Amino acid sequence: MKLVKLIANLGYGSRKQVALMFREGRITDADGEVLYADDKVEHAAIRIDGDPLDPPAGLVLMLHKPVGYTCSTKDKGRIIYDLLPPRFRLRAPLLSTVGRLDRDTSGLLLLTDDGQLLHRIVSPKSKLSKVYEATLAQDLRGDEAKIFASGELMLESEKTPLAPAGLEVVDPRHARLTLTEGRYHQARRMFAAVGNHVEALHRSRVGGLTLGELAEGEWRILDAGDIERLF
Ligand code: URA
Repeated sequence: MKLVKLIANLGYGSRKQVALMFREGRITDADGEVLYADDKVEHAAIRIDGDPLDPPAGLVLMLHKPVGYTCSTKDKGRIIYDLLPPRFRLRAPLLSTVGRLDRDTSGLLLLTDDGQLLHRIVSPKSKLSKVYEATLAQDLRGDEAKIFASGELMLESEKTPLAPAGLEVVDPRHARLTLTEGRYHQARRMFAAVGNHVEALHRSRVGGLTLGELAEGEWRILDAGDIERLF
């Protein structure tokens, strides 16, 4: 693929804008030598304003989503794409969220342009665990872990019972919930089904991945080792 098209597809600008970036000398190799639009260079050797070029298709990001942002691209309020460089919204193929966290939930959110990987992560068949830290309005009664683990809990307007879920009581108002499904507002609805109310919800883990040192609102590109840790 021609360099201008490659870089434009990664969302850095239209082909015209990328051609201008070449003329301005902003696109170089790893040694800072200015590149020309018809040069033949390895993807990994390209720098834009000194920064490595984003990876090609197959990009996977982890975002520490703050409360107050929606996962939609269209919402009029704050959206998670506001936290990412604008070029990530312009990539072809598109970068989409892997499942969703609701506006009032914080924590680990994955995004990718890799449809197969996305499917593998969200498919109920993969049984990938997601861990949520819940702060509750009322003290836990003591029977919730048994109910959640039963595989028989039915949520309102659902046709099938929930798969067994794990519940670890941290203290009477804090619990760690492990889910392998991703039904609409699942964690909040599960606690509502046992007479409680979730006041705060944070996703701390997806598969073997945690946020580590990533601060709220920050993101990082995942590498092959991270993806291995995921499954
Ligand atoms: N369960 C919820 O209720 N909300 C989320 O964002 C994720 C799981």
